[in-house]
Amino acid sequence: MMAQYLKLKADHPDKLVFYRMGDFYELFYDDAVKASKLLDITLTTRGQSAGQPIKMAGLPYHACEGYLARLVKLGESVAICEQFGDPATTKGPLERKVVRIVTPGTLTDAALLDDKQENRLLAIVALKGRLGLAWLSLASGDFALMDTDVERLPTELERLRPAEVVVSADTGLALFDTLGVPVRQMPPWQFDRDSAIRTLTRHFSTHDLAGFGVGDDMLAIGGAGALLEYVRTTQGGVLPPLAGLRVEHASQYIELDPATRRNLELTETIRGEVAPTLFSLLDQCATSMGSRTLRHWLHHPLRQHAAILERQSAITALLDTGAAEVLRETLSGISDIERIAARIALRSARPRDLSSLRDSLALLPALRDALPQTEFFAGLSQALLPDSEIHAQLTAAVQLEPSVVLREGGVIADGYSADLDELRGIQANCGEYLQRMELLERERTGIPTLRVEYNRVAGFFIEISNANVDKVPPEYRRRQTMKNAERYITPELKAFEEKALSAQDRALALEKQLFEALLDRLQPQLASLRLAAQAVATVDVLACLAAHAQARGYVAPVFVDEVRIDIDAGRHPVVEAQIDDFIPNGVAFGPMRKLLLITGPNMGGKSTYMRQVALIVLLAHVGSYVPATSAVIGKVDRIFTRIGASDDLAGGRSTFMVEMTETANILNNASEHSLVLMDEVGRGTSTFDGLALAWSIARQLIEKNRAYTLFATHYFELTRLAQDYAMVANVHLDAVEHKDRIVFLHAVQEGPASQSYGVAVAQLAGVPREVIRQAKRKLTELEQSSPGHAHQGDLFSVPIEVAVEPETHPLVEKMAAIDPDDLSPRAALQLLFELKAML
Ligand code: ADP
Repeated sequence: MMAQYLKLKADHPDKLVFYRMGDFYELFYDDAVKASKLLDITLTTRGQSAGQPIKMAGLPYHACEGYLARLVKLGESVAICEQFGDPATTKGPLERKVVRIVTPGTLTDAALLDDKQENRLLAIVALKGRLGLAWLSLASGDFALMDTDVERLPTELERLRPAEVVVSADTGLALFDTLGVPVRQMPPWQFDRDSAIRTLTRHFSTHDLAGFGVGDDMLAIGGAGALLEYVRTTQGGVLPPLAGLRVEHASQYIELDPATRRNLELTETIRGEVAPTLFSLLDQCATSMGSRTLRHWLHHPLRQHAAILERQSAITALLDTGAAEVLRETLSGISDIERIAARIALRSARPRDLSSLRDSLALLPALRDALPQTEFFAGLSQALLPDSEIHAQLTAAVQLEPSVVLREGGVIADGYSADLDELRGIQANCGEYLQRMELLERERTGIPTLRVEYNRVAGFFIEISNANVDKVPPEYRRRQTMKNAERYITPELKAFEEKALSAQDRALALEKQLFEALLDRLQPQLASLRLAAQAVATVDVLACLAAHAQARGYVAPVFVDEVRIDIDAGRHPVVEAQIDDFIPNGVAFGPMRKLLLITGPNMGGKSTYMRQVALIVLLAHVGSYVPATSAVIGKVDRIFTRIGASDDLAGGRSTFMVEMTETANILNNASEHSLVLMDEVGRGTSTFDGLALAWSIARQLIEKNRAYTLFATHYFELTRLAQDYAMVANVHLDAVEHKDRIVFLHAVQEGPASQSYGVAVAQLAGVPREVIRQAKRKLTELEQSSPGHAHQGDLFSVPIEVAVEPETHPLVEKMAAIDPDDLSPRAALQLLFELKAML
C-alpha cells in the first residue's frame, strides 16, 4: 500500500495528498506533519519504512470539506485520492486514483468559496518589460486578457486579487515573494502562444480570436493557454465551458494603485479587517452575485462618462419609480445562479442546487415586471429571460424539496420516470402487495390459513400448515420445510421478491442516472443562465445603490469636460455612518485652483476630508450617487494617495522608504486629470529634511503634474506657497480651546490655520499633567528665542530660505504684450534680440 501511495505522491510533490482509506483520508510523512500543524489534527505513526516509523495524520472523509476550506485559504493545494473496487473481493490494496485537485484558484464548491468574492486564477507572462495577464474565474466563467507594462504588476495584482497565480518555470519568483499569493510554476512550453491559440479557438469553436478583440500578438494568450491546461488537470481532465474571452484595457478604468486601494479602505480596512469599509457600508445586496459585482465595481471605477451615466440614470429611474424596494424583495429569493451554473458545467451540482435554480428562475418574471421602463432596463430584461426549457425541465425532474445528497435518493420528482415510479411504488406498497396476494391466494386455494410473508432469511414465501398441504396448487414450489408447515414460492412471488429486494438499490442507481442525464440536458442552456445571472447581479447592485442613496440623501453627480471638481457639502460616506454629527465640507478645484494646502490641528479632520473627496470622486465614477448636496466633476484618470505611515516590514521597507516610494510613483505618473492626496509627506525624517522635501514635492505637483491635489501638512512654512502660485490655495480646519479642553470644529475654511494645538491634543490624549506643564513652559521659551516666528508651525524651523520664483517671468510678460500683426520686420528682429538678451 505504501508503494502505491508513494507512486501517487510522486505525481503531486507540491500538494498535500489526501489518501482515502475506508472512512478516512490519511496523510503521510511530511504531508502529515504539515497538515497536523495547519489543521491542528493529531500526528501519529503507523508501521515502518526503512526502519523509521511512518508519520501519519487522518481526517474523517465526511468532514473533509471544512478541512479543505481551511487549507486552500492558507494557500495549500490538495490532491484527493479515492479508492475503487470492493474491499471484500479485492486481493491486495484497493486501486486508488487522484480524482480531483483542489487549489485556491480553481474552487467551485459552494462550501469552499467565499460568497462575496470572486475567486480568480491568474497567469502571468513577462517578456522584455511587457506583461501579459490572463485570468479566469471558474465559478463565474469569466475569462479575460490584458497586456500591460511590467511595472504595473503590483497595481494589477491588487486590483484582481487572484487566489492563485501560475507562471512559467523560467520566471523568477522573487517578484512574488512579498505578494502573499500562492504561485505555481508550470513548464514553459505550456505558455506557447501558437498552441494556446489553437487550444482557445478549438475551445470556443472560432476561426481565430479576433472576434474577442484579441490580437494574435497579445502576450497574455500564452498565459491563457497555460491557465486552461492547469484547470484541466485540476478538474480531472475536463475543461468546463467558459463564458467567452474579454480583453481589458487599462484606460477603461480609473487607475488606483495598490496604496490607494488600501488607503481608501474600499473593501478592507488598513488593518485588514472587512469593516468598516466602503463595501461593508454599501453592501446591502440581496444576492451574493450582487455583492460580488458591487465589490468589482468599487475596484473598477469607470472612466467613460457615457458608461457611468448609464448606471447613474438606471439608479435615477429606480428612485423615480420607487421600484428598488419591490425588486429587492424579489431578489432576496434568488440563489446564486451564477455559481450553480458553474457547478452544473463541472457536473458537481448537488440536488439542492437544481431545486434552488428552479425556484430562482420562477422569480425572474416578477423581477422583469418590476423593472422601470427604460432602454437600459429593457436590455437587462432581455437577459432575464433564459430559455424556458430550463425551468420546465427542472420542475418536471426535481422534487419540491430534494434531499441534500444524491446517494440518499429522494431527488427526482414523481411522475418524471415511469421506471422510477414503479421502483418506488414497490418499496412503498410492499406490505399492501403481500396482503392482497394473501387474500387472492386464500380464495383461489380455499386454504383460509394461508399466509404470504417475508423474513430476512427465507425471503418471500407462502406458508401452508401441514393439514392443508394436499390443497397446494401444482405451480407452488417448496422452499422450506418447517415443523408444522411448508413454505412455498411461486413464479409470481419470486419475480416480486427480486423486484422488491433490488428496488431500493435500483431506484438509487436510476435516480443517479436521471440526475446525470438532467445535467447533460442543461449544458446547452448554461450560456443563457450566465447572462441571466449577470443581469440579476446588475439589478441587485443598482437597487442597492438606489436604496442607499435614498436612505442617506445622496445626489447624482454631474460630469463635465472642463478641469473642475466642485463638491458642495460633501461627507465621508463611512465616517458619517459611524458618528452622529458629521460636519459636511465642500471642495472646489478649477484650472486656476489645483492644489489645496490643508493645515490644522491633529485630529482636526484633515485625513477624513481628503479621503471623503477621493471617495466621492470614486463613487461618482462607479455610477453611484454621492454623499453631498451637489457635485460637478471633470475628467479624472487616476487617484493617488500617500496617506499615513505604514511600515511595510514584510516587504523590507521602512516607513520613510515606503513614503518616498509612493511619492515617487505619484510624481512620475500623476497627470493634470489625476486626483492626488498627500497626507503629511516628509514626516518620516528630520524636520529640515522633511520640510525641504515636502516643499519641493508640492512645487513639482503644481508646476509639472498640475494634478488636483489635496496636500495636508504640519509644515506651516508651506502655506506661503499660496502667495507664490495662483494655483495654490490654503484651507484649514479649526479647533477652539474651551476652558482647559480643545474642541474640534471639523469645518474646512479658506486660509491657513493659526495654531497646531499639539500640546492641547497631547493633554486630551491623557499625557501626564507634568509633561504637559513642562512642554508648555518649553514652548514659551522657544517662541521667545525665535523672534519673528510667533506661531508654533515655524517653531523648529530656522527659516530655510525658500527661493521662490516669481510666478511670471518678465520674459513671459514681455512676450504676452507682443502683437505680431503690429510689428514691422525690422521691429520684429529688434525684439528678438531684446528677448534673447532678457533670457
Ligand atoms: P487629522 O487627519 O486632522 O488628524 P482625522 O481626519 O483623522 O484628523 O479626524 C479625526 C477624527 O475627527 C475622526 O476620527 C472623526 O471621528 C472626526 N471627524 C473628522 N472629520 C469630521 C467631520 N467632518 N465631522 C465630524 N467629525 C469629524
